[in-house]
Amino acid sequence: MPDRHLRPSSGWIEVICGSMFSGKTEELLRRLRRAIIARQKVQLFKPLVDNRYGLRTVASHNGMKMEGQVIQNAQDLLQNIRADTTVVAIDEVQFFDTDIVQVCSDLAHRGLRVIVAGLDLDFRGEPFGPMPILMAQAESVDKLHAICMKCGGEASRTQRLIDNRPAFYEDPVVMIGASETYEARCRACHEVPHKP
Ligand SMILES: [Zn+2]
Repeated sequence: MPDRHLRPSSGWIEVICGSMFSGKTEELLRRLRRAIIARQKVQLFKPLVDNRYGLRTVASHNGMKMEGQVIQNAQDLLQNIRADTTVVAIDEVQFFDTDIVQVCSDLAHRGLRVIVAGLDLDFRGEPFGPMPILMAQAESVDKLHAICMKCGGEASRTQRLIDNRPAFYEDPVVMIGASETYEARCRACHEVPHKP
């Protein structure tokens, strides 16, 4: 990314999206590291997903790590922003409801640089939560790609596998007693049986 990101004249929103294993968190942490080198005051947040509050490590698949603060919702984020913060980053932003869009927009209006990373599509290949609106309102959107585990092409989608078979469109989000895995796939190799 060009250095304009280091010295924003006013606030804005950057979206980093793509399938699982596309390097979104790695890219988010890379931008944060550069902002820290530029002496910006940075805060990193992540959603509460498994009832563990407090500071949690945000780690990328390639081993990069940073401490992030766990928050429950968009209001929670607003309440935790420090007065001197200039860069706000959110990982796994797809898990928030659409209230997060207004909060990101308010922060950008206040002059902050907001960087969010998340899955643009769910395992069904459909837009994930607040992502489409965030992508529309952002000044910058980067769509990263993984490698398709079937054909080696550019993967844009996340394949959900339950007991090693493609998950059905209508399968519940939590499958008790089943072994669930995910892999990156391209459009042609992505399988969603029973998709209407
Ligand atoms: Zn493929």
